Amino acid sequence: MKSTSGRRRKAPAPRRTPPPRYLIVAAVLLVVCSVVAGYLVLDHSDGDARAASGGKNGSAAGGTTKSNQEPAWDGKVKVLGDGSTSYTGPQKNELKAEPLKPGEKPPQFVVFSWDGALQGDDELFSHYRELAKEYDAHMTFFLTGIYLLPKSKKDLYHPPQHSVGSAAISYPTDEHIRTTLTQLAGAYEDGNEIGTHFNGHFCGAKGGGDWSVAEWKSEIDQFYDFVENWKTNTGYKDLPALPFDFRKEVVGGRAPCLEGQPNLLKAMKSYGWRYDASSPGDFQIWPAKKEGFWDFPLQMLPYPGGKYQGLSMDFNFLYNQSDGEVSGDPSKYPEWEQQAVDSYMAGFNRVYYGSRAPLFVGNHFEDWNGGIYMKAIDQVIKQTCTKKGVKCVSFKELADWLDVQKPETLERMRGLDPAQSPDWSTVVK
Ligand SMILES: [Zn+2]
Repeated sequence: MKSTSGRRRKAPAPRRTPPPRYLIVAAVLLVVCSVVAGYLVLDHSDGDARAASGGKNGSAAGGTTKSNQEPAWDGKVKVLGDGSTSYTGPQKNELKAEPLKPGEKPPQFVVFSWDGALQGDDELFSHYRELAKEYDAHMTFFLTGIYLLPKSKKDLYHPPQHSVGSAAISYPTDEHIRTTLTQLAGAYEDGNEIGTHFNGHFCGAKGGGDWSVAEWKSEIDQFYDFVENWKTNTGYKDLPALPFDFRKEVVGGRAPCLEGQPNLLKAMKSYGWRYDASSPGDFQIWPAKKEGFWDFPLQMLPYPGGKYQGLSMDFNFLYNQSDGEVSGDPSKYPEWEQQAVDSYMAGFNRVYYGSRAPLFVGNHFEDWNGGIYMKAIDQVIKQTCTKKGVKCVSFKELADWLDVQKPETLERMRGLDPAQSPDWSTVVK
């Protein structure tokens, strides 16, 4: 067991991402989210989330469930394609999804998800893998496809509406491709999920929000192309094949800057995916399906000392605390870190003692404001995953669990306010 007080980070490395434009767009997005949140809260000051978020109950078309995807495995490892990936059988130590028994209180699910998933000099990917192991958690790592594409091969990327080889984020160094590959293999073997954060991280004009269904499909196809052919593209013959098949492992993603979900959902239908985590925000209620896919949004959490709610993502704190400036006043860091922890914990406690709706946390591997948003998450992992009845799972595991529940039970659970603690015998029948 390693120390729980210290961070396992090295001295600050030069910031890799995001370039200013990315942050500006993010800030604009957050203004929009904050405005929307403020409006919804004002409009429903009795705290009834149902009115604002109702009418989105799932239809069954489009997505797929686990049962019709599970491959029969003959026990043999199959190396795939150019040797970049392999199929090693069903993932081990996955959550056993079982239907609730009548009157049973649902587990409190908490999902920690990471956008980008590069193992850079900050070593945050390995840090969160270690924390996940220590606290018996599984997490979702949304891999950016070009993080396995060397800069020298960048012309292989044809981004929608942008010039060949361009991207709104930096291409990885050759060394970071190696370190990321090692972490991806370990993450899968630990029971974590690998999803997608797509490729070029384009936001705003000509970004995902402006893309057609065909352009989203092109972006998805290129993601698979880069991650399934890293051995050819890098020439690294000394590294082993990844222990999973991206075609089976990836069943959802999060769009950069949370933009473009409507056309993305349509594009996803041909890939057998099961959920999408790109919705720019909703209340903390039990998930529903959108276009046949589980919709796992970032959530509105109570913001300390305020009458409004903020989105469960590091961007949101950055925007509120230092006006989106990534290096704000260092004397404020302890206070801001505590505010972030308090907000996450207020959101957790509200459902833990209430509706038991899952808590979703989305962050980037960044050292904004001295890394306080990472340290805040470290504390939240320690304070939540250790509690009775809590299961810290990946989005994929949550989708598995939701798929085996009775639709009528889920329907009743979706009717609960976040803080509403029901007589479970009236909800789970
Ligand atoms: Zn991102």
